[in-house]
Parts: sequence; C-alpha cells; structure tokens
Amino acid sequence: MNLVLMGLPGAGKGTQAEQIVEQYGIPHISTGDMFRAAMKEGTELGLEAKSFMDKGELVPDVVTIGIVRERLIKDDCINGFLLDGFPRTVPQAEALENLLSDLDKKIDYVININVDKSILMDRLTGRRICKDCGSTYHLVFNPPAKEGTCDKCGGELYQRADDNAETVQNRLDVNIKQQEPLLTFYETKGYLRTIDGQQDINKVFADIQQLVGDLR
Ligand code: AMP
Repeated sequence: MNLVLMGLPGAGKGTQAEQIVEQYGIPHISTGDMFRAAMKEGTELGLEAKSFMDKGELVPDVVTIGIVRERLIKDDCINGFLLDGFPRTVPQAEALENLLSDLDKKIDYVININVDKSILMDRLTGRRICKDCGSTYHLVFNPPAKEGTCDKCGGELYQRADDNAETVQNRLDVNIKQQEPLLTFYETKGYLRTIDGQQDINKVFADIQQLVGDLR
C-alpha cells in the first residue's frame, strides 16, 4: 500500500500517520522528521536544511528528492510506505512519479485530511510537542495529564517555534497556496481522496481504514 498523506498544518496528519503505520506495518516517511533528526545529529544534511527551515522556507528540491529516493529504496518499503510532508510542490510530485516508476511502483492513494482554516488556527496555537519522543499534545483537545510533561516518556513539552500565534496565519496561507496545485495534480491523476478531518480522531481513522482496506 503506497500512500501519500496530505493536509494543512494542524489537520491531524501526525496523529493519523501514527495509526496508519501501526495498523498496516508500513514505514512512516516524513521529510520534516528526517530533516529535524539530521539537524539534531548535526549532519551535513541537517546543517543545510536548518538554514531553510529556520526561515520557514522549503529545502531545495535536489536535497529533498534525494533523501526521499534514498529512503524509498530501503527494504522496509517493499510492502508499501506512507509519505508525509512530501511532495510539497508539483515538481516534487513529478519527481516522485518518476522515482516510483523506476522502482516499478505507483501511488495507490493520496489522502487529503481536510479541515477548515478557522479550526486550524485554534488547533495550531495550542499544540505542544515532547522534546524527547516527539509525541504531540494540545492544551484544549488533548492535554497531557501533568502540565508541560509528556505522558509517554516524562519529557518536557515545548511549543514549536512555527506554532506561535503571529506566524500561524501566515503559515496557513502559504500552505494553502502551496497545496492547491498539488491537489489539482493528484485529482487529475485520479489518486486524490478527501477525508473529513473535522470529525473525532477515531472516526477520521475509521474513514481512512475504509478507504485503504481494499489495498491489503
Ligand atoms: P514539516 O514538519 O513537514 O512541517 O516540515 C518542516 C520543514 O522541513 C519545512 O518547513 C521545510 O523547511 C522542510 N521540509 C519538509 N518537507 C519538505 C519538502 N517536501 N520539501 C521541502 N522542504 C521540506
């Protein structure tokens, strides 16, 4: 099952991705996570990505497509994968088509988790993330048992720099504009499936399961 997960920041992609990879045993390939891990390790890739990420810009395609290619040829992708945060642009989507065709694979579905912008604004400003294990919480919708502390590992919770209220509006507008041509691209290809992301988390996942069920 070869899936691409799409959705604006705060649409619940991370939460659904966790459940999908657990349920179907496919690797979660998040370019944002890969870049953050490389930054934490201080690798050359991390240093290169940092200069763009700090400014809220996209890492250049040559770098991003390169790391996705390296990842998709690994053995654990044999039965499928879940791409998250990639592709972000039509050139990246075209590169992915070519790359998959070289590997004799194709995308089954592009799952777009759809949520209204006003709801995303509320969701994003309340998001908190564990410094140690990366688990996500929300001050209103999914608070930790103890304020500021991760339920899973006891790590300290922080607000991502780009979740600040001042930047959220701008970030959403940029993402909406960026996403539009990509949605059109995948709609034309016939891969696009839209899931209502304003439902309860479990119902969103049930809808995804219903969609991908026939791929198993
Ligand atoms: P994310 O965690 O998906 O929000 O990604 C965080 C940051 O990583 C983005 O703001 C970009 O700077 C970089 N990044 C992640 N995925 C991509 C991509 N597909 N193309 C270019 N840059 C990316």
